[in-house]
Amino acid sequence: ETKQQTDIIFRSRLPDIYIPKHLPLHTYCFQNKQSPEHVSRPCLINGVTGQVYSYAEVELTARKVAAGLNRLGVRQGHVIMVLLPNSPEFVLTFLGASFRGAMTTAANPFFTPAEILKQAKASKARLIITQAAYYDKVKDYLEVQNDAKIVTVDSPPEGCLHFSELSQSDENDLPDVDIQPDDVVALPYSSGTTGLPKGVMLTHKGLVTSVAQQVDGENPNLYYDKDDVVLCVLPLFHIYSLNSVLLCALRAGAAILIMPKFEIGLLLKLIEKHRVSVAPIVPPIVLAISKYPELDKYDLSSLRVLKSGGAPLGKELEDSVRCKFPNVTLGQGYGMTEAGPVLTMSLAFAKKPFEVKAGGCGTVVRNAELKIVDPESGSSLPRNQPGEICIRGDQIMKGYLNDPEATKRTIDDEGWLHTGDIGLVDDDDELFIVDRLKELIKYKGFQVAPAELEALLLTHPYISDAAVVPMKDEAAGEIPVAFVVRSNGSNITEDEIKQFVSKEVVFYKRINRVFFIEAIPKSPSGKILRKELRAKLAAGFPN
Ligand code: AMP
Repeated sequence: ETKQQTDIIFRSRLPDIYIPKHLPLHTYCFQNKQSPEHVSRPCLINGVTGQVYSYAEVELTARKVAAGLNRLGVRQGHVIMVLLPNSPEFVLTFLGASFRGAMTTAANPFFTPAEILKQAKASKARLIITQAAYYDKVKDYLEVQNDAKIVTVDSPPEGCLHFSELSQSDENDLPDVDIQPDDVVALPYSSGTTGLPKGVMLTHKGLVTSVAQQVDGENPNLYYDKDDVVLCVLPLFHIYSLNSVLLCALRAGAAILIMPKFEIGLLLKLIEKHRVSVAPIVPPIVLAISKYPELDKYDLSSLRVLKSGGAPLGKELEDSVRCKFPNVTLGQGYGMTEAGPVLTMSLAFAKKPFEVKAGGCGTVVRNAELKIVDPESGSSLPRNQPGEICIRGDQIMKGYLNDPEATKRTIDDEGWLHTGDIGLVDDDDELFIVDRLKELIKYKGFQVAPAELEALLLTHPYISDAAVVPMKDEAAGEIPVAFVVRSNGSNITEDEIKQFVSKEVVFYKRINRVFFIEAIPKSPSGKILRKELRAKLAAGFPN
């Protein structure tokens, strides 16, 4: 208790707001539909085909999908897995599962069969929604869970069902579902501060709170106008896009332009064609835009907000984009899957914007508390002193699926979630991230869990020990590299190790360099001293 009294807590400069935490997520997202003009408003725009779905259509189809899921045996509390690029079907499936009271676990469709199988098994998925092209990657799951079903959005291989089985159901067949605020609705996978990827339980209450913290109230922190067209190019299987792009835009009643993959020329063309006004992106896309030689060939005058998040945005890059887009508000948000995910957001995005500094990640969202703690002593630190960023509020995860130990290591007894990021809060309440304490590697904003690659490397008979750490990279931010100890008598090569890994993992987890060493530096308790290895690289190892 004495500790509680001495905690130094930072809050938003905007006042707290009322948050309807009792509502199921889908009810909350479609709450504005009461207004008649809202019904016919464009909701989803398919960037590939140009097809537009109104708010009324999206809501009705999501209900039909819910009824269809029910008919296929999906019950409240069950998990369905989505393995799709961004598409209207992805959105309809997620919302349909929410209406059914089920949870969605989404994964990168580029995952290898081994990576998909791990997540499907761990989450006990009852149904997988994917494309026919990925059938070969998921079919082995049927041997593990023989009552599981596979649904494809295009022409189904034998034994699979077509998406229309869901989307053309009778919505009146959906039974009453009693959804509680603490029921889980989204189950993204994240390795958090340490170890292997784990299922992050995000509840209806948590996501409603997070979305409200961003877009609700008189002066929303992230102002999305009804007339905005929001770019949805970041993958919806990542919570940044699901929450801060899709759910926030739905709540605000904006239109969402869906792009299945990032390609710079096409992106600029679609911004021009659909008059995109808000573009939530990641630093590598900011870089691609800033370096594109023919920017002035496009009419990008509709853009009013460029929001970067998911990984650090370099100050030089930020300055260069600001020069190129003087009329656009550029800023950052900072998130972590376990935090629901948004912790801080630039107040330059508010309806009544604040002056903010370059390089800042924003201010803590409303209805939440942030503190900076000394990683050694655990005591909270005053302004301008860097320490571990901790966050508390209703938006954070309920915990890791079936992993109370990992949950306890991340959320303490007082409800503080420890991020593993190092940052400071300055005199104007702005957060600056300066380092990362945790193992996590971020390749273009994608998570690479060192523990996963280390476990894989150790399965090789010619490797006796291994450690994976990030190396700085201009295009990707960070890339994974490995320190490897060969087993006695082995002369396995760098290329052999790289090939061995690349067969098992999605492209961005591939090992970029291999450094052979005598022994992996470890603490007396056996923990890899990653800092030492990172320092070796920074010092130019092996030269
Ligand atoms: P994820 O759970 O995949 O969203 O990854 C979360 C991690 O990404 C955070 O804990 C940070 O290390 C990093 N991150 C996210 N946003 C930012 C940002 N704006 N600046 C620096 N790092 C960030």
